[in-house]
Amino acid sequence: MNNLIIAFVLLFTYTINVYGQPSAILESKVSSILNEIMTIKGINNNIVLRENPDIQFAEAEVSMGTNYLYYNPDAFGGLLYLEEGEREWSLIFILAHEVGHFFQEDNDEKLNELNADKFAGSVLCAMKAPINEVEIAITIHDLKANGSYVSKSTRRIYARKGWEGGCSIEKVTSNKARELEDFFETINKELEEKDYYKKDKSIQKIVVKSYSSDGNPLSTYTDSRDNRTYNIVKIANKWWFAEELKFDSPNSKCPYDLEKYCGQFGRYYQFEDALQMCPRGWHLPKFGEWVELLDHYGGYFLSTPARLDGSNAYNKLIIGGESGFNAKLTGRVNSGYHNHLKVRGSYWVNQFSQNGESFSVSGIMFDGRDDPRDPKRVFLQNYLVEDHYMPCRCIEN
Ligand SMILES: [Zn+2]
Repeated sequence: MNNLIIAFVLLFTYTINVYGQPSAILESKVSSILNEIMTIKGINNNIVLRENPDIQFAEAEVSMGTNYLYYNPDAFGGLLYLEEGEREWSLIFILAHEVGHFFQEDNDEKLNELNADKFAGSVLCAMKAPINEVEIAITIHDLKANGSYVSKSTRRIYARKGWEGGCSIEKVTSNKARELEDFFETINKELEEKDYYKKDKSIQKIVVKSYSSDGNPLSTYTDSRDNRTYNIVKIANKWWFAEELKFDSPNSKCPYDLEKYCGQFGRYYQFEDALQMCPRGWHLPKFGEWVELLDHYGGYFLSTPARLDGSNAYNKLIIGGESGFNAKLTGRVNSGYHNHLKVRGSYWVNQFSQNGESFSVSGIMFDGRDDPRDPKRVFLQNYLVEDHYMPCRCIEN
C-alpha cells in the first residue's frame, strides 16, 4: 500500500507536461528565475512555489503569514518554448508581476494589478530586457480585477513606467543610449524648423468616401509637400495610410534602386529618417498602435500557445484583404542587400530598444512565403537600426 502511494507520488512529480519539460526540471527553472528576480531587486526570497494547473499563468496568495506563488506548469512550459539565445522574458514578467503583489497594500484591486505590472516592468529593465518584451508579455497575460478585465493599454503604460523608471541609471551610464536619446530630442525640435513642414500648415479634414468590404471607412489624403495623394483607411478608430509612404527624402531608396518599384511599394527609409517623414498631422506608428491594429484582427504570431497564429491579421491586412489596409510584400534593405521583395513586407515602428551596444526596433513583418509548414502571417521581428532601410506607414496624430 505504502509502495503504491510512493509510486503514485513519483509518477505525479515526474509527469511530463505538454511542452516536454519534466515537472521537476520546470520547477527548478521557475525557482531559479524567482531567485534571480529577488536578487536583482535586493529582497529576501521567502516565497513558496507551488504548481496549480487550474489558473491561467500564476497567482500570489498570502496564507497564515506565508507567501505562496502558484503557477500553471503547462502554461509556463509553453513560455519556455523559445528560439535559441532568447530569454524567457514573458515568464519572467509574469512571475515578477506576482512577486509585485506581495508588496502591494492598496485596497483598490485594479491599482494593485497595475502596480504589480509596474514592478514587473522594473524587473525586466533591471535584467536588461528590451522594452518590446514588456509589451509582448502584457499581450499574452490576461488579468481581471474585481471580476472585470484590466485594459491592456493601461497596463502597458504602468509596465512601461516601471521599465523606464528602473532603467534611468542605465541610460546615464551608457553613452550610446544617451547619444541616441539626444538625437531623438533634437529631431523633435528640428521638425518644426523644416521647410517642408512649414509648407503644410493646414490639417486636412478627412471626409469618408467609401467603405472597405468589412466596413472600414476609406478616404484619401494629399501630402502638400509634394501633392501626392494617398489612400487612407480607418481601423479600430484610427486613420492609417493604406499605402506605403513615397515622400522622396534625400536618404531614401527604391526597392532594387528601381523607380518603378517605388511607385508600387513606396520608398525605403533609414529608421532616423522614417521617424520624421510622415506629413504634418501624422506620425510613424508606435509599437502599441501597431498592436492595436493587429489585435483588431486577432493578433500577431508569437511562439507561445497563448498567442494566435497571426494568419487572420495577415489575410485581412494584406493587399486585397477585407480591411482595406493593403499591406504589401515590400521587401527591405538589410546590410546593403535588397531582399524579400514580393515575399515579405517589413514596416518600421516608432520605438527602439537597446540590447547591449546595439539598437533595434521591433518592426512588423508580413510573411507571405509559400511554406507548407507555416501559414502566411504577421509577426514581430527585431531589426538592427543601423543595418536596415524599410518602408513606413503613417497614422493620424
Ligand atoms: Zn495580478
